[in-house]
Amino acid sequence: MKLSIKIITLFPKFIGSYLPSFGILQKAEKGKLLDIKPVDLRQFGLDVRQTVDGRPYGGGVGMVLRPDVLHKAIQSAAKSKIKNLKSKIILLTPQGKKFDQKTAHRLSKFDQLIFVCGRYEGFDERVRSFVDEEMSIGDYVLMGGELPALVISEAVMRLRPGILGKIESTHNESFSPVTDFNGRQKQSLLEYPQYTKPEILRVKSKALRVKNLRVPKVLLSGNHQKVEEWRKKEAEKRTKKRRPDLLN
Ligand code: SAM
Repeated sequence: MKLSIKIITLFPKFIGSYLPSFGILQKAEKGKLLDIKPVDLRQFGLDVRQTVDGRPYGGGVGMVLRPDVLHKAIQSAAKSKIKNLKSKIILLTPQGKKFDQKTAHRLSKFDQLIFVCGRYEGFDERVRSFVDEEMSIGDYVLMGGELPALVISEAVMRLRPGILGKIESTHNESFSPVTDFNGRQKQSLLEYPQYTKPEILRVKSKALRVKNLRVPKVLLSGNHQKVEEWRKKEAEKRTKKRRPDLLN
């Protein structure tokens, strides 16, 4: 079944500028593997001015998105003719659970994802009660949920069968989930270093000395077992150095 992604936003053109118009994602849309669309929040606005926000009760700076308007938009986006559609409504907020590759794998099993983008000072607290999950893409504050929605969408899309040329390329990459000896799911190590041609690269260092940067000999040996052993060791070494938290 194709993956349907709907992004509820005040700025549909923002999403439009990313929408699959080239490369892999265009092929996926044409091949009916993917359907990604913005939902214009403004069309659910109130009165002649199509108001979508209001001042916060109790005072304070900025505007907050109204819960009644968002509720209508979510209800409309969630309508589907397909029975038993596996669907998730995700609210983007810096206060949500931090998105990671394990979550990308989990979400890739759904048929429909509906993202709700906040703007301005955010949204009325009651919106939290009509979504399934709240997600953040990191401990920093952006202007809106559009980039987070696209970041999550892209990480999820590439895990769907048929979208990448070879799904195997998502199996052993950095952070992909693995099951440990106790049956617990954890994130895998960082990926091993990769090399391509030329075998020897001559460059000038900052001190203007000429250096030869060589591809490790084992990768040229043609010995697959040795290559595998080297890759495993390198992945462990770099994970220990850069992300020791992944080894816990
Ligand atoms: N006042 C809010 C707070 O302190 O939690 C931040 C509001 S932010 C300026 C506006 C909107 O951008 C949020 O409602 C959310 O949808 C989105 N946003 C900003 N940073 C984000 C992040 N790190 N992850 C996910 N969404 C984010």
